[in-house]
Amino acid sequence: MRRHRNVKIVATLGPASSTYEMIRALFEAGADVFRLNMSHGTHDEQRARHSIIRQVEADTGRPIAILADLQGPKLRVGVFANPSEELVEGAAFRLDLSAAPGDANRVNLPHPEIFAALEPGTSLLINDGKIRLKVEDCGKDFASCTVTVGGTISNRKGVNVPDVVLPVAALSEKDKDDLEFACELGVDWLALSFVQRPEDVIEARVLAKGRAAILSKIEKPAAVKAYDAILQVSDGIMVARGDLGVELPVYSVPPIQKRLVRGARAAAKPVIVATQMLESMIEAPVPTRAEVSDVATAIYEGADAVMLSAESAAGKYPIEAVTTMNNVAMSVEKDPTYRSVIEASRVVRRESIADGIVAAAREIAEATNIKAICCFSQSGNTASLVARERPHVPILALTPLMSTARRMALTWGAHCVITEPQERFKGAVLAAVRAARDGGFATDEDQIVVTAGVPFNVKGTTNILRVAPCDERLISRVDPE
Ligand code: PGA
Ligand code: MN
Repeated sequence: MRRHRNVKIVATLGPASSTYEMIRALFEAGADVFRLNMSHGTHDEQRARHSIIRQVEADTGRPIAILADLQGPKLRVGVFANPSEELVEGAAFRLDLSAAPGDANRVNLPHPEIFAALEPGTSLLINDGKIRLKVEDCGKDFASCTVTVGGTISNRKGVNVPDVVLPVAALSEKDKDDLEFACELGVDWLALSFVQRPEDVIEARVLAKGRAAILSKIEKPAAVKAYDAILQVSDGIMVARGDLGVELPVYSVPPIQKRLVRGARAAAKPVIVATQMLESMIEAPVPTRAEVSDVATAIYEGADAVMLSAESAAGKYPIEAVTTMNNVAMSVEKDPTYRSVIEASRVVRRESIADGIVAAAREIAEATNIKAICCFSQSGNTASLVARERPHVPILALTPLMSTARRMALTWGAHCVITEPQERFKGAVLAAVRAARDGGFATDEDQIVVTAGVPFNVKGTTNILRVAPCDERLISRVDPE
């Protein structure tokens, strides 16, 4: 089973997508990665979804990545006496540490460290930025504010403080608990919400102990500023446009998206463009023109993956949403303009032998009738470098490690195949040829490019490039051993 596109699709699971039938249908429609959102649902629900995904993986024989998305230090107001209150523009509203139920004049904000970081003039955004408050006066246990944009407020609505690098730990107690749960369960990626500094990523990495790769969600102005440093310590990036568009003006999101995608591509780390991609499909079986265009734009920019949130987790049309993304991807990737845009934005980095080998592999494939680039990869690093070249032929990433194959499900163009650990180059070439033929990428008459590192099964040794015929009799003749 192979995909006929390079960009990957991430589908968030939730109440609308928790049965075996639905998860399998989403996979068959095109989902390559499933996201478990730790902000919602219980550990038992996540465990059940995890085990269904692994079952689908076993039944279809294709490695699937599971991404656990940690809630992060999301600030929330406390509870109200009434179901909701209307805050009107110009009115005074107070946030404090008192646990007493709130009313139209005040509510609890149970985060003492936040009060210390506020100053008169700081903006506070409530309920995805629908309500705006300006701090007039504040102390260690209160902030008196003026409502600058009014709206309805109710229990536990989220609070964003865009202007300030908040003195909060990157991982709350709940996050640490969720992280350990997810790692024990066996997820491939951990996404960190509201990352502010590179240290936040390092803290999670220490706790993950190599059990999962770390993906930083860029959704704070501070993270946009510190992007290069955060990228360097992360294994992947998410352009988290939901909170980004609350913390910054919405119209600043597209240029930031372009910058983040380009940076991640240059670093050969997967980047997901996320949130509201097909928002109207929560309620409708067809997308708007603007949504189709948005998905297409992310693909033209060279993102590794596009993501569905509520569309697949809680919407009425999860399968239609994945199918739409799949169709948009196939349509864009067929466009000659896509090829020229992707090539014009290719990053030329020639700092290592592996860089040179993957570039040569791509160039040979461009100049001749090569059907696929097959790379042996332990850590997935070489496959990521091949993906950075954005070649026009399929990338077969061969690895003996299931964990690597699953992680690579997020990487642009990577079709992962599990192989026996290799001892000799000839055996590796044979394994590559068989994988290419079995996967329907090549026939006996074709040729492929194979890259590998000798000695085998050691990280970071890519040092061989071979053009191999797919006819096994020819291989035996050319490579006696
Ligand atoms: P969320 O993250 O869905 O967990 O909030 C994505 C975003 O903010 O865009
Ligand atoms: Mn978010």
